[in-house]
Parts: sequence; C-alpha cells; structure tokens
Amino acid sequence: MQLDTQTIERENRIYTSINDFNEAKQVIAGGVNSPVRAFKSVGGTPLFIQRGESCYLIDNDGNAYIDFVQSWGPLLFGHSDEQILSAVQGAIKSGLSFGAPTRAETQLAKAIIANYNGIDKLRFVSSGTEATMSAIRLARAFSGRDDIIKFDGCYHGHSDSLLVSAGSGCATFGTPSSPGVPADLSAHTLVARYNDIESVRGCIETSGKVGAIIIEPIAGNMGLVPATPEFLLALRALCDEHGIVLIVDEVMSGFRAARNGIQHYVNLEPDLVCFGKVIGGGMPLAAFGGRAEIMDMLSPTGAVYQAGTLSGNPIATAAGLAMLQKLTREKDLYERLESLARRFTTGLESSAREFGFSISTAVRGSMFGFFFLDGVVRDFDDAKRADTKLFAKFHQEMLQRGVYLACSQFETGFICAPMNESVIDESISAARESFAAIAAESANQG
Ligand SMILES: *Cc1c(COP(=O)(O)O)cnc(C)c1O
Repeated sequence: MQLDTQTIERENRIYTSINDFNEAKQVIAGGVNSPVRAFKSVGGTPLFIQRGESCYLIDNDGNAYIDFVQSWGPLLFGHSDEQILSAVQGAIKSGLSFGAPTRAETQLAKAIIANYNGIDKLRFVSSGTEATMSAIRLARAFSGRDDIIKFDGCYHGHSDSLLVSAGSGCATFGTPSSPGVPADLSAHTLVARYNDIESVRGCIETSGKVGAIIIEPIAGNMGLVPATPEFLLALRALCDEHGIVLIVDEVMSGFRAARNGIQHYVNLEPDLVCFGKVIGGGMPLAAFGGRAEIMDMLSPTGAVYQAGTLSGNPIATAAGLAMLQKLTREKDLYERLESLARRFTTGLESSAREFGFSISTAVRGSMFGFFFLDGVVRDFDDAKRADTKLFAKFHQEMLQRGVYLACSQFETGFICAPMNESVIDESISAARESFAAIAAESANQG
C-alpha cells in the first residue's frame, strides 16, 4: 500500500519520522516494539532513530537531540562508547552464540557481586522481565508460600504476576492491570503503598501467606520516587519477622544510582536482587542473584526450573563486562553524574518557577525526575497529582529545541558520562524557553 508522505518543517528543521511511523504501523503492532516508545501520552509521533553518538540521538532526518533517555537507562556511557563497541566487535569474531558456558560469564558475575553485599550467586537472563519473574518463582519455592506483595506504581516488567495494580485501595489483593492476566493469578499479588510500612503490614495480615515482597528501592517507573531509608529498613525487619523473601528490583537503579545501587544510600541486605539495563551495556542482558541457600534451589542444583537459550549470550556478556570495567575504573563517576543531574534539576526548578509553574524534583546519582506539582512525592497517589497536560506541552517544546526527554511524566531521566556542564546548561536554556513559550501561549488563550 502506498502511504502519503509528509514533511514537517519547524525552525528550518525537517521532520519525516511520521512517515516511518505510519509505515511501521502497517506491520508492527502500534508501530513500536514497546508501548512507551509511541509518544501516546505526549502527543505527536515518535522519532525514528538513525544512530546515537555520545549524549546525542540523531533521527532519520539528521536532527540531533541531547538524549536524557539513554535507551531507558542502560547507556551509562552514552551512545556508541568506543570501548564497549570494540568489546562487542572483538566478541563477534568468535561467534554469536554457543549455548554453552564461557569464562566471560563468570567474570561478569564476579564483577557484579564485588559491588554488592548479600549476593553469593547470580544467574543471567536476557531481560529485566525474566529476572523478576524468575526471582518470584524462586522466592515462592523457597518460602513455600504463593502470595506476593508489590507496591503501587512500581514496575517490574510485564510478567502476569506483576501486571497487577492496586484494587479499590492499597493493602488489598490487586486487580489485573491488563486484559489477558487471569484474575486467579493476580489474586496472589497484593498491592501495598510505597513508603508506607503500615500498608505492608496490612497486606501481610490480609493474606496470611505472603512468601515474597518485591520493591524498586529507588522507584523509577512512576517518575523518580526514592524509598526512605527508614521504610526500607522497616521492610527488611518485617520480612525477617515473617520469613518473607525480600526481592530488591534494581533493574533500573543498579549501577545507575550508584555503583552499588541502593546500598550506597542504606545498608539494605536483600535476599534476592534483580539487575538489567546497565549491566548489559546496551545489549539484552539481565540477572537475578542472592544468597547461596536460595540460588542453589535453581535447576540443575535444585528443583526450581528456569532456563534460556540465549541467556549469558557472549556478545551481551562482552558488552556488560566492558561496561562494568569502565564504571569501576572511573573513580568519581557517580559523584560527577549526580552533580550534573542536580545542576539540571536546579535549572529546571528555577526556570519553571520563573514562569509560575510548580515543580518537584528528585536526584539519585545519574537518575533524575521532575513532577509538575506542588509538594513532595512519596508514593504513586502523590505522583498522579502531576499536571500531565503541562508535561506533554513541555515535552513537545523541548523536542523542538533539540532535547529528548522520556515521553511520559512518570519516567526517570538519565545523565550519561559524556555530558558536561555546557550540555546541561544548553538543556536548561531550552527548558527556560519552553516554559516561556507555554506561559505565553496560555496568556494568549487566557
Ligand atoms: C525496566 C525495568 C524492568 C523490566 O526490564 P525489561 O528488560 O524491560 O524487561 C523491571 N524492573 C524495573 C525496575 C525496570 O526499570
């Protein structure tokens, strides 16, 4: 079928991604292979990307954008990092996949374990979804109990047990958050309120047979909402009291918020930890790990089944290893990225306020978040107060000024190592102009 093509011109830039999107929609469901890429909540159409270079994304028309998405987290060193690319190129020469163990997998496991307390053993998988799904199966087997608790607003991938949202209130059995998830299954998932230990206690009592609790210790999927240290320590104590396996989902925050993720902020001993994103260096690789006593229940040592044809893939492992070696070498990496993140959120705050917009920001290492609302955000109910219409406008204005932000109010932004103060200041100027444009537009309408 012949599609009409359109060329959009704005301030001397040409945009034709809409044609690519229309064509993609003919053969790919919704035109995208992951729904968040579709720009649905901010309007417009997604940019089709030609390539990435350091902190920039370049679209099919050759427009460059300062990229605060970084493939949704993995690219700590930005796009096309030379050392990571050359590790991948080196590995490719020996073959793409063996379905047999390699030394590099052991090396990568050691490099991850060296940074974390409480992890004896790991297993590699290919996505964060697989990591959390497998960790839950293992936790259920270890505790001998089927019910699990997750937190409202936390995301742990798209497996059935975890696609559950709060029912009529928190501290209740959840309801499927997607058609196709059996209610029988979601009935084993209780949903508690983030940063609210009483709601967790409520869930434990309601169920009477909770075997596992899964949490993003630095929530990044409802916008950036860190858990308080007191809450995490109380959660640990509650798990110990009731023999519940605590699964700490650091798929996003691991090696992103700090070299040792949440453990940089609070001395949280997990039972199981999930990793993904950064540890794959931009390739499909994730992992779950924990105490030997639990991990040894996995097949072939134990009876809990878990497997993967491409798990520990040699190319992904090479990329992950290069990433881990690089982030270990640069001593002040996270301090430097955090100071850039603070520079950006401080700039966003002052320019938003200058034009009369409320904003609430957070930073954890190279992760940053901002909500268009007044006050602090402790949980998903707070986050949902954000002005998503204002966010949509801001997103569009920033894009036109060459700044690529995550296309939803409820996502986290990422600083990458190639960014510097001048890139941040350029982004702040774009933000100031964007707020000015939005304020002017609403003044005209008002
Ligand atoms: C991204 C993410 C996942 C899912 O990982 P995929 O690789 O997309 O399957 C799970 N948990 C958290 C906290 C995440 O941010």
